[in-house]
Amino acid sequence: MEKDVLLRYARLRSGRADAIISRITEGKSVACGKGCAYCCYGVTLWLRKIEVFFLAHSLNRRKPRDRAYFAGKLRRYGNIYERESERVGYRPKSPVKEEDLDTEKLGIIGGLAMNEVPCPFLSEERTCEVYGERPIMCRLTLFSDREVCRKDWENPLAFLWRNEIYPFIEDIKVRFLPVFRREMEKIRVDLGVPESWEKDIVFITDWLRFDPVKKVFYIREDGKRLVP
Ligand code: SF4
Ligand code: SF4
Repeated sequence: MEKDVLLRYARLRSGRADAIISRITEGKSVACGKGCAYCCYGVTLWLRKIEVFFLAHSLNRRKPRDRAYFAGKLRRYGNIYERESERVGYRPKSPVKEEDLDTEKLGIIGGLAMNEVPCPFLSEERTCEVYGERPIMCRLTLFSDREVCRKDWENPLAFLWRNEIYPFIEDIKVRFLPVFRREMEKIRVDLGVPESWEKDIVFITDWLRFDPVKKVFYIREDGKRLVP
């Protein structure tokens, strides 16, 4: 697959997602903003292949030294994830289909076992280092009250996520997904992007690789190295 076409698709995908979310949330009180990042801890980065491709593209635009820095962060994050998923007893093999992922078990790994583990893309200033290329799940994680998010992060066993935050997100998600999927399906077919890029879900460190000599991120697709 031509990487320029994939990149075009990934950009259109982000643009459409932002436009639809902003339309759906118009008039809704949303407290999210720069520096607020309680939701960027304990994330389990099971992402669509096109999202990993877009993140790799973002990382490869940085200086080699910064790329190596992110490779180190991803490696550490991946190691913690492997340890905790083993402890919980749930580690699917990439790629999987969305319907085959056990979101409850992923919630246990992320929200409980890895609650204090930051996303590898969270900066020390608590901002997202890949903001423009962040996955859809991050764009949809919105809430009306930072205090509730803080309390949820401090004490996940209060189940504020399940009882307050998630229903807010779910309300946006059920309106977002049908529109987004319809629009993207048309764009995907028009551009000739294979369905697997949208449907296959992979764990980030299963698929995103780093070449320590050339200092570039790549993914392996159809037995070939693809450098986004
Ligand atoms: S979802 Fe919560 S923690 Fe995340 S940015 Fe919004 S208010 Fe902050
Ligand atoms: S990719 Fe960015 S927005 Fe998403 S969890 Fe990581 S730091 Fe947060």
